Amino acid sequence: MSFNDVIGQEAAKAQVQAWINAERLPHAILVCGPEGTGKRRFALELAKACCCHAGGTDACDACSSCRRVEQLAHPDLHLLVPAAPRSARKAKARDEGGEPEDPRAPVRDFLDGVAAPAGGNISVDLLRRLQDDMGYAPVEAPRRLGLIFNADMMHPAGANALLKVLEEPPRRAAFVLVTAAPERLLPTVLSRCQRLTFRRLRPDEVRAHLTRQGVAGERLELAVRLGAGSLDRAARVAGGELDELRDQVEQFLTASIEAQTTRYWELLDPLVAGGDRAAVQQFLTLVGVHLRDLFLLAHDRGDEVALLDRRPVLLALATRLDRGRLEQAAVEVDRANDYLGRNVNLNLVLTDLWRALSGAFTGRQAVC
Ligand SMILES: [Zn+2]
Repeated sequence: MSFNDVIGQEAAKAQVQAWINAERLPHAILVCGPEGTGKRRFALELAKACCCHAGGTDACDACSSCRRVEQLAHPDLHLLVPAAPRSARKAKARDEGGEPEDPRAPVRDFLDGVAAPAGGNISVDLLRRLQDDMGYAPVEAPRRLGLIFNADMMHPAGANALLKVLEEPPRRAAFVLVTAAPERLLPTVLSRCQRLTFRRLRPDEVRAHLTRQGVAGERLELAVRLGAGSLDRAARVAGGELDELRDQVEQFLTASIEAQTTRYWELLDPLVAGGDRAAVQQFLTLVGVHLRDLFLLAHDRGDEVALLDRRPVLLALATRLDRGRLEQAAVEVDRANDYLGRNVNLNLVLTDLWRALSGAFTGRQAVC
């Protein structure tokens, strides 16, 4: 793989190649932008290009250096990813019969698109060790590279340790921080980084990628529209992974429209019990997509809907609702999702959403 395999993001690629060409790689780079846009792969390609023996601005993908970066075994490459909470790691080790895990396995999973573990973090110990390692002269590459994935999940004390290194960076070292939530990083860390901002992919870019993977027909179009610029999400839609969730979202909407409190909580309780904010956010994002489609159908714009395969069901729902209420409900869902991103209590947000949604749909004040 090389930069060519990172879809789109031409500005970020050009910037990195200009840095490498001028031999002026910054000491700290922040790769940020929405989930599923190729940031993780890009960071690894950046490392490969910087270490490649061929000396160009892109990896040759054939030399021993490129191969070792790809195997996550290059001596000058240090990779950090968030780990699950200690209790979850112990349980996993017990389930697997106490076999020690290959330390590269979580990083590999991460590069394959596995989501960060809920409640996990990048520990202080790991960040301090990285700080120490980066202080040594590189073994063979022009510089040591420290890649920190989901940098927003750094333990606060660890982030402070990192800040100290960034204030006086070792001469032959560069840090690459990758995150979809740069606002959760310390402003002092942010101000030390050169920023590369990834954008959502265009529908034609996602469509071309999925077509190469053999996705076709209505499933392809559904994946492009529901993917909303995220390759991961589009691939999950194409693979049918979100089908069950979509069913639940449809039931959730019906429950909200019909003011069925018990059903509303039955659908949300498993998500709330797990405390997985990202899962709740994904659920509400999908609720937002449904509401947008209902709005389009109510305005005779059925050809623009994202959920192509559910058009008849949505149309039946749309005829029961007035347009103003749909708009209001969409605003309420957006607001709830925004609160979730700001760490407001999960139960509180969903209780408020229940009141707001049933109020929007029935025009009455709801009781929880
Ligand atoms: Zn190479």
